Amino acid sequence: MGHCPQGGRSVLDPHAGRYAARTAGMTASEIRALFAVASRPEVVSLAGGMPNLAALPLETIAAETARIIAEDGLTALQYASAQGLPVLREQICEVMSLEGVAAHPDDVLVTVGSQMGLDLVARLFCDPGDLVVAEGPSYVGALGSFAAYQAEVAHVAVDAHGLVPEGLRAALRQARNAGRRVKLLYTVPNFHNPSGVTLAVERRAEILEICRTHGVLVVEDNPYGLLGFDGRTHPALHSMDPENVVYLGSFSKTFASGLRVGWVLAPHPVREKLVLAAESATLCPPTLNQMIVSRYLATQDWRGQIAVFRENYRERRDAMLRALEDFLPPGCSWTEPDGGFYVWVKVPEGVNTKAMLPRAVDARVAYASGTGFYTNGLGARRMRLSYCYPSPERIREGVRRLAGVLEAEPAL
Ligand code: PMP
Repeated sequence: MGHCPQGGRSVLDPHAGRYAARTAGMTASEIRALFAVASRPEVVSLAGGMPNLAALPLETIAAETARIIAEDGLTALQYASAQGLPVLREQICEVMSLEGVAAHPDDVLVTVGSQMGLDLVARLFCDPGDLVVAEGPSYVGALGSFAAYQAEVAHVAVDAHGLVPEGLRAALRQARNAGRRVKLLYTVPNFHNPSGVTLAVERRAEILEICRTHGVLVVEDNPYGLLGFDGRTHPALHSMDPENVVYLGSFSKTFASGLRVGWVLAPHPVREKLVLAAESATLCPPTLNQMIVSRYLATQDWRGQIAVFRENYRERRDAMLRALEDFLPPGCSWTEPDGGFYVWVKVPEGVNTKAMLPRAVDARVAYASGTGFYTNGLGARRMRLSYCYPSPERIREGVRRLAGVLEAEPAL
């Protein structure tokens, strides 16, 4: 019998002998575990990546939603196509065109957030023991999906310009020498979670070329691409090599995360398999939520709304960078994101961000320790600070508290 946590206690699990072998890779992410403490009102949470929805026009969305149900309720409340509503898939193609993607609606699958897209991609491509290469650090939710299908992740270093092509070559060489099969490159090219960096345009073609040469499929996860603070976008990897890139998109950061509407754009044969996998997971994505998104795109100034979100996040990024500069002790360094939600901080030698976290929570500030973003134990001298949700004043206060905690660490 195994142990399972329940209300903070560990109890014997009578089902322990029944679980599939793949469940061994399913562990609670450090970040989820943090949510409970971090959401206490006295704690300034720089830990989670919750979008700040305060600028949404709620009354308009309420009226439009009521209209959908009044005018088209029997459709909105019914099952629909497993692939997603055709009208929404067309609109998604329009959204993607902002980043140079020329897509056909037939090649789009609507998902329950891009997290479902990650799960489907892992389900389709990962056998136990397969290798996935990914940035080091990487988005925890993706690491969770790959672990759930028993694939291993080999991390490739990032610098201020994103994934380092030479590091990718070395990782693929090493895998080949070890007789390992690399199936996928998983990458977040824009305003990376958690490091905040963006893949330089000059590197994009090179990385695609390396993947093509080595027979590795690219999974481009791009939830933040429209949140560049200068309003500019970068060419999607998909736009440069459509036959070897699976693109994951989402309305979580550009509209409303709770609606759970995202999508996958994939080469035609992959898309066919994705639809089959999606059908067995959910039958179809939620019809009402798809209609809400579709109506919003059709009737509202969604580009203007994204510009408002961008401005809010830019103001918070500025507050965070200013506070880091003003308060953090010598020996700390950090990335300077041009968009998105996150700053990646390096702390002085001898400080362990995972061990320090309870002391930070005692001081009423929370962050995500770097270790959760690696599968190989790295990250103890890193932490992710999210500036997306708190007000600029709270961000400043949170960083001030964090600096106090760092200064009290024995290593300093
Ligand atoms: N990918 C990345 C890089 C993310 O940061 C997130 C959310 N934090 C997701 C995917 C999942 O987003 P959603 O399921 O809400 O679309």
